[in-house]
Amino acid sequence: MRNKLLLVEDERAIAEGLAITLEAEGFEVAWVADGREVIPTYQRIRPDLIVLDLMLPGMSGTDICRAIRASSDIPIIMVTARSSEVDRVVGLELGADDYVTKPFSTRELVARIRAVLRRAPSTTILGGGAPAEASGVRVDRLRHEVSVDGEEVAFPPKEFELLALLVENAGRVLTRGQLIDEVWGHGYVGDTKTLDVHVRRIRSRLEPDPQHPTRLQTVRGVGYRFADR
Ligand code: CA
Repeated sequence: MRNKLLLVEDERAIAEGLAITLEAEGFEVAWVADGREVIPTYQRIRPDLIVLDLMLPGMSGTDICRAIRASSDIPIIMVTARSSEVDRVVGLELGADDYVTKPFSTRELVARIRAVLRRAPSTTILGGGAPAEASGVRVDRLRHEVSVDGEEVAFPPKEFELLALLVENAGRVLTRGQLIDEVWGHGYVGDTKTLDVHVRRIRSRLEPDPQHPTRLQTVRGVGYRFADR
């Protein structure tokens, strides 16, 4: 079955070029140029993934992302015009799964779409076993639930996957390479800053003081470790 993509881009030339390539890559593509049409179209066609430009007429990409995230874990890849927007996009709890910065190559976008789809919840559920718990954080893959000190906390798919790996391996150092391979796939071609951004977002959800993390610890020059008590 072909994966259905919702492409949100107000620049016609960019959208047409992308749509042609994505269709040649085997995706079914629906294109929307106006921000106000995104949510109604999303609700009507139920895509497998959304490629969402940040700057749009009608309704901004950030508002759209926030609105969709309030009710859905659908994979979202944000498209930003400036790299200075990346922290804002990925960091501010928007819950996008990944991002590309304009100008980007279609090849890069296709690689990211495939990686994000590989990691969508329907596939991770199959890998689930018994819930793991460490340092007051409990991760249940089968239910896709995280609790922190007994309180349930919502995590988007990528952060969930990263946290699950760390908690399941609590006390052990996982290298940056291991984490990127496991969460984004061996074919991941993006920059490794994505990992740090996701770690920062996880910390903001489960550390009392995210600037001085005690649970999700940095092992300088190597990777990360989740505290086992
Ligand atoms: Ca735009």
